[in-house]
Parts: sequence; C-alpha cells; structure tokens
Amino acid sequence: MTQTFDCIVLGVGGFGSGALYHLARRGVNVVGLEQFGVAHDRGSSSGETRIVRKAYFEHPDYVPLLLRAYELWTDLRAETSRELWDLCGLMLAGPAEGEAISGAHLATRLHHIPLEDVPLEQARTRFSAFRIPDDFSVVFEPEAGYLRVEQCVRSHIERAQALGAQLCTNEPVQAWETDGKTVKVRTEKEVYEAPRMVVTAGAWTSQILAELDIPLTVLRKLVYWFEVNKGEEKTAAGLPAFYFELPDGAFYGFPSIDGQTMKVAEHTGGFEAKNPSVLDRESRAADSRPVEQFVSAALPILKPKFQRHAACMYTISPDHHFIVDRHPAHENVIVGAGFSGHGFKFTSVLGEAFADLAIEGSTRLPIGFLSANRFQKES
Ligand SMILES: Cc1cc2nc3c(=O)[nH]c(=O)nc-3n(C[C@H](O)[C@H](O)[C@H](O)COP(=O)(O)OP(=O)(O)OC[C@H]3O[C@@H](n4cnc5c(N)ncnc54)[C@H](O)[C@@H]3O)c2cc1C
Repeated sequence: MTQTFDCIVLGVGGFGSGALYHLARRGVNVVGLEQFGVAHDRGSSSGETRIVRKAYFEHPDYVPLLLRAYELWTDLRAETSRELWDLCGLMLAGPAEGEAISGAHLATRLHHIPLEDVPLEQARTRFSAFRIPDDFSVVFEPEAGYLRVEQCVRSHIERAQALGAQLCTNEPVQAWETDGKTVKVRTEKEVYEAPRMVVTAGAWTSQILAELDIPLTVLRKLVYWFEVNKGEEKTAAGLPAFYFELPDGAFYGFPSIDGQTMKVAEHTGGFEAKNPSVLDRESRAADSRPVEQFVSAALPILKPKFQRHAACMYTISPDHHFIVDRHPAHENVIVGAGFSGHGFKFTSVLGEAFADLAIEGSTRLPIGFLSANRFQKES
C-alpha cells in the first residue's frame, strides 16, 4: 500500500531530526524514514557530546547561522525542559597564526563574538589542568560549550512527533525516484509518496544520491574516555571544552560529565570507511596512539591509557564545507550532506533551512556558500 505525505525526510539522525521538527512545526504532514532507531550509535550523531561555538574558525560565513542555531537550541531546551547543552566555554590553544586561533579571531572581528585572548602565563594558571606548549597562543570563548548529542536528536524527534510528524524506524530506504512532481520512496515494508523530500542520510549519502556527483569521503573516527586521577574529579568536571592545534594534529575534549572519565579525541586523521554499514568499530593501536600521546603530554589529570571508546563517522566534502541545497537535477529533493566532522551544532538551524527549502523553495538563512553547484565541473 502507498502512504502519502506532504514531505518525506530520508535519514533521521542529526540533521533529519532537525528537519522533521521544523517541518512538523510548520504543520507539514511529514514522515521520517530511518534505517535504525532513535538517537542510535551507528551513524554520526552519537557519543554523548558535541562542541558548540560561535567564533567559527572554519569560515566566518557560518557565524550568522550559528547565531540562529543558538536561538533555536534555547527554544528547544525550553520546550523540552531538558539540559541540552552546557555552555562551559571553550579553550583554544595553538600557534597564533594557525587555523584555529587566527580563524577564531577573524570570525570574532567580523561578527563581534566574545572571545578572550589569554596570555600564556595566565592561561597556565587559569587552566592549570592542561600543559600548554611554549609559544602557543590561548583564547577562551565564554559562550561556547557542548551539546548533549543524543538528547538533542531525541528532543527534536519527540517534539516533531508531538506536533504530528510520523517516524518509521528500522525501515531502510531501498530506492527512490521522482518525476519532478512526486517523490516515490520504497522500503522493505511500504511505498511512500510526497511532492518533496529532504535527504539527510549522513555517511550513506553517496549510496542514496549516487548521481549527485560530489565526491564524499567517509572517515572512521574513534573517540576515547580516559579515567580521571583520584583527587582530580572536581577539576575535571569544572573544565571548559578544549581544542589543541598541535603540529601533529588537532585534539579536542570535554569536561568530565560523570566525574570519573573525560572524553578526548583527534579531529584530524582517521581512516577511510568504504562501507558505513560494516564499519570496523574496534580500536587499533594506530587509532588510540595519537590520542594517548596527546593525553599524556597535555592532560596530566588523566590516566594515559584509555578506558573505553566509541566509533563514529565524518562525511567529508571536497572543501570540508557543508552541502545544503536543492538537488541540482530534482528541485523537489533537498540535500543536506558533507557535514565534514563539524555539523552537529547546526542541526537546529539547518533543520529550519531544510523546512524553508522544502516548503517555499528558498530560505532567508544565509546558506549560499553551502550550495551544491560550487562543485560543478567546468565543461
Ligand atoms: C567523532 C565525531 C565528533 C564530532 N564532533 C563534532 C563537534 O564537536 N561539533 C559539531 O558540531 N559536530 C561534530 N561532529 C559532526 C557531527 O556530529 C555530524 O556532522 C552530524 O552529526 C552529522 O549528522 P547527519 O544527520 O549528517 O548524520 P547521521 O546523524 O548519521 O544521520 C544520518 C541518518 O541517515 C540514516 N540513513 C542513511 N541511509 C538510510 C537509508 N537508506 N534508509 C533510512 N535511513 C538511512 C542513518 O541511519 C542515520 O540515522 C562530530 C562527528 C563525529 C563522528
């Protein structure tokens, strides 16, 4: 039997949950199709925490989107009465001319984001849990912190359902087609039809949108929890989030949430995953060694051997910036892809952009720099 809706969301992880919520909030009769469960750990939106910040060093054009993202996270928090985030601040440490510090300064200058320059000697006292290398610069962003990733996904979905959205879990999409007017999506159980569809399939995007012709690389990324040394529990719980740009890679982490462990990971590096459905989730020495070396050099309050780990995926676009646009060949199909390991904080605001694009065909949100046609080959 065919079920008919106003809009289909294919893939309800981070971005799909945001899209589902914003579509439902506008009264759209929407269905979300998800191959796994709610807030599952097989994709890219799991592992407790995600950094949220405004002094965006990757590119200052993201800042206006972040300002709206913060408003929407605040609204969602009020609607659900859940502690979706902890704005504990973010310490960035690295060379003054490196990507992180100079990029954060640029975003701050252009968009007047609060950012403190902390002289090294002061930083060593104020953030005494860290060993900060000589000749590093340190900045502190007081309005940054972290989002509780699974709580955010769950909250978007629960609110969407309360507003009338339908969610079908454990229902992998097998195929889809469109004649320009109607999108027809087939799963094992059903056929779904709608005049429009939002595709937010994360690491599976290249399988779902084979003809998109934008090379996306899926990287397997492992994150680690390290035990806090006895007596340091309070210090570990009171830290800001942190990001170190070192000559051999960028490493980041979070204050202790459970008082016993801290999550630390490497943003750089990672091995290509050919098939996201059969991801190797084991930690190998090549995965853990750089993170353990970082911990032993920079975080003496932690035991240097990791206690547990989790696996996740980055889906990297050719220029490491997102793709948020209508499908170049199908105007009624909206694509959110290539979030390149820094997307989660935007799932609120881009959920709103997906709803705009699906309902109105355009959005007032400044997403022009994320268009799909920037990758179009010259003929
Ligand atoms: C280790 C790690 C650390 C990160 N740190 C940060 C950070 O600090 N800050 C930040 O902002 N971002 C961070 N990111 C990036 C951020 O988490 C991702 O950009 C974001 O979660 C991607 O969301 P998504 O919706 O694209 O993917 P997902 O959440 O994986 O959602 C895609 C969904 O589509 C579903 N799907 C796919 N194919 C089908 C199909 N055929 N049928 C049905 N369903 C399907 C999948 O099951 C999945 O649920 C990090 C990512 C990782 C992996």
